[in-house]
Amino acid sequence: MKRTMFFLDQKDMPTKWYNILPDLPVALPEDLHPATGKPVTPDDLAPLFPMELIMQEFSPERYIEIPEEVQDILLTWRPTVLHRAYKLEKALDTPAKIFYKYEGTSPAGSHKLNTAVPQAYYNKKEGVKRISTETGAGQWGSALSIACSFFDIECKVYMVKVSFNGKPYRRIMMETYGATCVASPSMDTKAGREMLAKDPNCNGSLGLAISEAVEDAVSRDDTHYALGSVLNHVLLHQTIIGEETIQQMEMAGEYPDILVGCVGGGSNFAGLFIPWLRDKISGKKPNTRVICVEPTATPTLTKGPYAYDYGDVAGLTPLLKMYTLGHDFMPPPVHAGGLRYHGMAPIVSHLYNLGIIEAQAVPQLSTFEAGVLFARTEGILSAPESTHAIKVAIDEAVKCRESGESKNILICLSGHGHFDLSSYDAYLQGKLSDLEFPEDKMKEALDKLPKVG
Ligand SMILES: *Cc1c(COP(=O)(O)O)cnc(C)c1O
Repeated sequence: MKRTMFFLDQKDMPTKWYNILPDLPVALPEDLHPATGKPVTPDDLAPLFPMELIMQEFSPERYIEIPEEVQDILLTWRPTVLHRAYKLEKALDTPAKIFYKYEGTSPAGSHKLNTAVPQAYYNKKEGVKRISTETGAGQWGSALSIACSFFDIECKVYMVKVSFNGKPYRRIMMETYGATCVASPSMDTKAGREMLAKDPNCNGSLGLAISEAVEDAVSRDDTHYALGSVLNHVLLHQTIIGEETIQQMEMAGEYPDILVGCVGGGSNFAGLFIPWLRDKISGKKPNTRVICVEPTATPTLTKGPYAYDYGDVAGLTPLLKMYTLGHDFMPPPVHAGGLRYHGMAPIVSHLYNLGIIEAQAVPQLSTFEAGVLFARTEGILSAPESTHAIKVAIDEAVKCRESGESKNILICLSGHGHFDLSSYDAYLQGKLSDLEFPEDKMKEALDKLPKVG
């Protein structure tokens, strides 16, 4: 019998997150205060986040204990399964061994609940009654809505307008869990009203929705803000994905040669690859390749400069050193809504700048083609974000067929695509096209990068 699934016993779920900050070969550049240009202090962030999350953001500790209450909730769907993709390998006629870690079995349908739960928990412990946030495709908004319902916290979600209109089921899901969801730009904030005055038909962007959610949080005493990607503490919470796969690849008796994942803000893939980087950085496995995949229409790592920029349109967030397309860049409406962010996690940006990880951009049509092949072989209908990872895994497996090498490829499959069927429909009907990257618009946006130092 071929072993296709590697289950970790619930008692073997990791009980600690791995923090890469103390193990980085070069220290991570500090975040800067948007007004003073000085390094951000924990007190600067206190209006937005609970202190325990802020301490995690700067923590020098290599391992951080997962609180028991959080473990109890993670255990409702974790550990997630590692699969061996025999049927895909056969269809590609490749000697490569393809594995995928599937995060779509969480109640939210993606990896995002891994951080939503601890974020809601630490807020609850600090007595916070209400949390505001943004969501692009609706994945993060649904995850936070679920986590808030577990801890009896009110949740307000600013959802990017193209998705709000195009993906009504995600909104209904959030409302079912008790959250309030409005289209962004909205009339509920100054940032939203200003944008609507300038452009009543504005489709919104993640950067703008972040401005609205941050403004909401700082203007009320009972409210904190939560971010679903990018920040160090979010990547930290996602390392449970990688810690599980290390045990599961051991069960499979294999070590990955290539790790591949999609990057929007960088959290799902960093969650998978960061624990594996211990071996690469220590020199034990120097040749492991880590490939970040992004859409050619929003090529943050492959086309953007490495610079200090705001995380949002209005310039309310700290300045983060990251690859960026410019904070007021309005991304083309690619169907992988979770990959439309203008920036990239500082940790992912830093590792890329140091040459420890790689990046590739792929066009939209090729990702749907890969997603359809994956659905027809492995049976899982993946999120349009995750199909970016599948596309590059397939390319690498085809290279193995051509060279005769048998490499081990490990994919981070971040979520299912059951709420993205209209995108699959457009692809199947031949109505989908590859979107151009508006390079001139990026250049305009880059002119507005904040001056630092
Ligand atoms: C949000 C999301 C992403 C992109 O965000 P990251 O922080 O880069 O992981 C990718 N896949 C899915 C399914 C998502 O929901």
